[in-house]
Amino acid sequence: MVSLEKIARLAQESRFDSLGPAVCVDPEKLSSLGEGTRYDVCASTHSPRSPNLPGICHSFSHDGRCISLFKTLYTNYCSHQCNYCTNATNCSRRAATFSYTPQELVGITLSMYRANYIEGLFLSSGVGRNEDHIMERMLETARILRQKHCFQGYIHLKVLPGASRSHIQEAMELADRVSINLEAASASHMSEMSTTKNYESDILQRQRYIRDLETSENLPAGQTTQLVVGASKECDEEIFNRVLYEYKEIGVRRVYYSAFSPQDGTPFQNREPQPQWREVRLYQVDWLFRVYHFHPQEIWHAFDENGLLPNADPKMTIARELVDLPVDPNIATYRELLMVPGIGPRSAKRIIALRKRQTILRKAELASLGVRIKRAAPFLKIGGWRDATLQMWSA
Ligand code: SF4
Repeated sequence: MVSLEKIARLAQESRFDSLGPAVCVDPEKLSSLGEGTRYDVCASTHSPRSPNLPGICHSFSHDGRCISLFKTLYTNYCSHQCNYCTNATNCSRRAATFSYTPQELVGITLSMYRANYIEGLFLSSGVGRNEDHIMERMLETARILRQKHCFQGYIHLKVLPGASRSHIQEAMELADRVSINLEAASASHMSEMSTTKNYESDILQRQRYIRDLETSENLPAGQTTQLVVGASKECDEEIFNRVLYEYKEIGVRRVYYSAFSPQDGTPFQNREPQPQWREVRLYQVDWLFRVYHFHPQEIWHAFDENGLLPNADPKMTIARELVDLPVDPNIATYRELLMVPGIGPRSAKRIIALRKRQTILRKAELASLGVRIKRAAPFLKIGGWRDATLQMWSA
């Protein structure tokens, strides 16, 4: 991870001047605009141990490679009033505002790309006074990179709320990935979180433009989105319902979650911060739906009566509810194997391949296939025996 401090130091040492004297970057601007992306998530890999630091972040390319991206705002000036955001006009401790020019941003990106610090650019922004003007500047940056410098690196462009359809189309032509932040689970929660953003027209309508352009214009840049978790006291059930809509109706590739953290000077500064584990549990149910293809009816068992996800592994909670009898790996279907905690899609397929050749008689055989035995054993019956140490079957 290359920190913002290091990037600022490189700027001070004039390392970004390779494209000529026009590219002279103010380290304070670089720090402020980098810091402004702290809550823009571009991969679900951040955790308390690997926080979503501004500067250079990691994301995943189409082929699943982990790539380093220079993550920055184009400008931290924004005319919206979002009650959780330090760039909003209603934040009493709004920082000094900065904007890049397209040429500056191109210079930094190319210099870092050529020096092998990054493999691409993640460009977000405040909307400035007018979203069309800032979208145009962001697109100009991507245009210069792609067309003038034949930049082959990865580009992720944020679509600003309210952006025009033509700007969205060009973003999809230039970028590998586009995204527009949902932020809230519903229009009513959005109206609590922002007095200026219209959930339907500024966000959902723009998502539909992207979805339709993907098919009508055959533009491969898929879209992702992001939710702020817990800013408006929504429950996890409301979030997951929205997530299901996003995957099924909008066709987003990924939903990212960012636990709400109150910021000084914002109208939400006294709201309770959300624990990191809430974000983690949402990623886990998202994974069960998207990768394990669990049916929503199965996943709902992970939620409590208040529509919240407890701080417990959702797959374990679901298995305790739905796995009635110990599963015999020698005869279970793929779906039955997948229900067992500690067995994922890959190990389930390996079990099915192995049992065609031999009967599975020992836990060690399963462990060698990648099964996490400590978690799986209580739900399994191996060689006619089930794990007698487990309380749950007798509970
Ligand atoms: S639109 Fe984005 S940058 Fe602007 S105030 Fe809202 S959250 Fe902040």
